[in-house]
Amino acid sequence: EKNVYFFGGGKAEGTADMRELLGGKGANLADMSSAGVPVPAGFTISTRACAAYYENNKQHPESLQKEVAEHLARLEKLMGKKLGDANDPLLVSVRSGAAASMPGMMDTVLNLGMNDKAVEGLAKVSGNDRFAWDAYRRFLQMFGDVVKGCDHEKFEEALNSVKAEKGVEEDLDLDTEDLKKVVEKYKAVYRDHVGTDFPQDPVEQLWGSINAVFGSWHNPRAEKYRRLNNIKGLIGTAVNVQSMVYGNLGDTSGTGVCFTRDASTGENYFYGEYLMNAQGEDVVAGIRTPQPLQSLADANPEMYKQLDDIRSKLEKHYRDMQDLEFTIQQGTLYILQTRNGKRTGLAAIKIAVDMVAEGLITKEEAVTRVTPEQLDQVFHPMIDPAARKSAPVIAKGLNASPGAAAGEIVFTADEAEDWVKNKGKKVLLVRRETSPEDIGGMHVAEGILTSTGGMTSHAAVVARGMGKPSIVGCKALQIDHAKKTLTVEGKVYKEGDFFTMDGTAGEVFEGTLPLIKPELKGELDEFLAWADEIRTTANRPGLTDQVFRIRTNADTPGDATVARNYGAQGIGLCRTEHMFFEEDKIATFREMIVAKDVEARKAALAKLMPLQKKDFVGIFEAMAGLPVTIRLLDPPLHEFVPHEAAQIEQLAKSTGVSVDELKRKIESLHELNPMLGHRGCRLGITYPEVYDMQVEAIMSAAVEVAKKGMEVEPEIMIPLVGAVKELSILKANAEKVVARVFEEAGTTTAYKIGTMIEIPRAALTADEVAQEAEFFSFGTNDLTQMTFGYSRDDVGTFLPQYVEDEILEHDPFAVLDQTGVGQLVEIGVERGRKARPDLKVGICGEHGGEPSSVEFCYRTGLNYVSCSPYRVPIARLAAAHAVL
Ligand code: PEP
Ligand code: MG
Repeated sequence: EKNVYFFGGGKAEGTADMRELLGGKGANLADMSSAGVPVPAGFTISTRACAAYYENNKQHPESLQKEVAEHLARLEKLMGKKLGDANDPLLVSVRSGAAASMPGMMDTVLNLGMNDKAVEGLAKVSGNDRFAWDAYRRFLQMFGDVVKGCDHEKFEEALNSVKAEKGVEEDLDLDTEDLKKVVEKYKAVYRDHVGTDFPQDPVEQLWGSINAVFGSWHNPRAEKYRRLNNIKGLIGTAVNVQSMVYGNLGDTSGTGVCFTRDASTGENYFYGEYLMNAQGEDVVAGIRTPQPLQSLADANPEMYKQLDDIRSKLEKHYRDMQDLEFTIQQGTLYILQTRNGKRTGLAAIKIAVDMVAEGLITKEEAVTRVTPEQLDQVFHPMIDPAARKSAPVIAKGLNASPGAAAGEIVFTADEAEDWVKNKGKKVLLVRRETSPEDIGGMHVAEGILTSTGGMTSHAAVVARGMGKPSIVGCKALQIDHAKKTLTVEGKVYKEGDFFTMDGTAGEVFEGTLPLIKPELKGELDEFLAWADEIRTTANRPGLTDQVFRIRTNADTPGDATVARNYGAQGIGLCRTEHMFFEEDKIATFREMIVAKDVEARKAALAKLMPLQKKDFVGIFEAMAGLPVTIRLLDPPLHEFVPHEAAQIEQLAKSTGVSVDELKRKIESLHELNPMLGHRGCRLGITYPEVYDMQVEAIMSAAVEVAKKGMEVEPEIMIPLVGAVKELSILKANAEKVVARVFEEAGTTTAYKIGTMIEIPRAALTADEVAQEAEFFSFGTNDLTQMTFGYSRDDVGTFLPQYVEDEILEHDPFAVLDQTGVGQLVEIGVERGRKARPDLKVGICGEHGGEPSSVEFCYRTGLNYVSCSPYRVPIARLAAAHAVL
């Protein structure tokens, strides 16, 4: 039975698919070697040998000893060096490598083969005595510590005593003679602990190290790691014995790192840095400045060509951009490591698209190569990574809406508008929370920061809708609106101070950091078209309409147009209440709310109808040919009335109602739990004329647009239904209005009436609700709020800690809770379709643009997800990932 596998010299006994036997690292070394990549040669001892070691009371069979000896001889021959040689010694590393990656959990020994003779040999070939003696003392320490369990402290003490004697503090201040003393002291430490002399025989060193690596398979750290990461069914670790190569053996040696393509732009350009006569750590430590790789082409064209050939070999073999480390040892090139290179979002897309064109990968593979987070990066400015490195984060909050922004801080929406429109400044709007009244200021601000609120708070939802960076629930910000100051950790900032924020990370910085905006047009469109093709051609058995669609949440014609350009296939949620805050409507809307009787209310509504109709006309036109779901009024009325004296007086004037009476009226709208109070369809039941007006506005707009020859698909959506009777009453009311509109117009259009499922009872009784509803849209913001019993606007006080303490894996207002809330979605879909098999079902909560939630929706048989315009591309990609 073969248990030792050779690799090196362009050949290998193992293969890539032998992970179980050779471990991940061993299989990978074999794979690279046989692909013609010049990895330093060596051999892998199998995991089976590890299992046998434990079964046989930590003894090896003679056959294994023989196999190792044969492979060692082969290695020495190939490298032209011998272990322990006094002129040109071979040194090896001994490393673990299981079938599953367990980084840093098991033992490693480096520079093995070092002894009193080899140190002289290494000094000769490197021409560097100090380096050789330093390598020797490091090996003594590592071998003593890892293989024999010598106390690490004792080695430290020995080293410190030599430094003290010389009166220096740094290791670097020790010269060769000092290091020779250290070696003697280390040998004494070893003898004291082990009871015998440090073994000069490299083969004895080798077996000690092999056994130490096998032994580390069962160390408590490794066992815990396997338990925590649920790594099961492995028989042991393999051991990789590999020649060490050095880049500091004179002027024909060197070392470097490179990327097979540019990791920040994706350009097909060989990018890297190197240093001659240096070790890897010299490049990392920044003591010497590395040269750009291109200069190797001039300095040593032969070497550069070899490296460039390896570059294309590696890309052909791994079919992905590689990040590789190389060493040149006395004119021979070795690749120490290669792995898929980390890259920016921009580079990820460019590389994926280019590799399809080059025939390296398929379109499907290209689509899986880009994560939703990477895609998201290309739509937003980001802080220049170089500048960011040295900029301290002064506060952290929830990353409510991605992208970076910089500007002067202001504390009210009015000021934001004033500073931007009249003073030409860029501002960040900083508030405890935002409300619909702040829309104007939010619109002109570069970014929005709040000290309270969660992922579905007003600031978060609106900022995402506008595609603006936003951080919410940033508790460290203490805002004093009266003084117009902001205090962070005791430091006071004033209105007009400069800040930079990163909504992607939820981080706030002092001052102005440079922002960069990725540019990528053609590749992006091509890439997303592939994602769409995968999504729209997927087979979804059992569904009347098999195509999974991406819609958008948009409240204005402008947002609708943006979303359509991003690929939205209709509107899944138009929140009509946002329109009432626009200047031309808010006064009339308030008149409606404070009206003394039905007549006065109807009069106000009659004024509002044409204004709202005009908005709907714009939206239907922007979405011509696509469905548009419009939700009837949802929030509690108190959100719309003024609370400040001056505004109340103004309202008194315009309505002719006395200030006292207005105050009483406003007071009467106050609720203890407004989110569970008089809102949603409950308003439609108690004030039917409000919904009647909205239905009239929607349908007369639809008819008008249809008359212009455009296709309209209105879907009237009734929010917050908990009992089917609410829906049957409101549907009947709506149908009466629709009939009247059609009669007056002398024409009809297709339309649907459906409901949101955002109360657990509606999901549980979905079979009843579907008797009336022609479509469902899961409002997972409210559904999450009501399932968890967490007020969505107040979670900032405890939810971050819940996530930190891992009570919850994620913020459930950002990532759909599939275990709990997800069950209600599944039940709703199943029971709804039982009553109405062709029921169209979507989701319009904030989860509609979150990748794992999109995947859940696809799997659960939803017909579409609806998300804010700027998240449409992310949803398109996430949906394709769900299919693949
Ligand atoms: C929801 O509850 O998920 C929803 C989309 O409605 P809103 O966020 O407006 O309450
Ligand atoms: Mg809702």
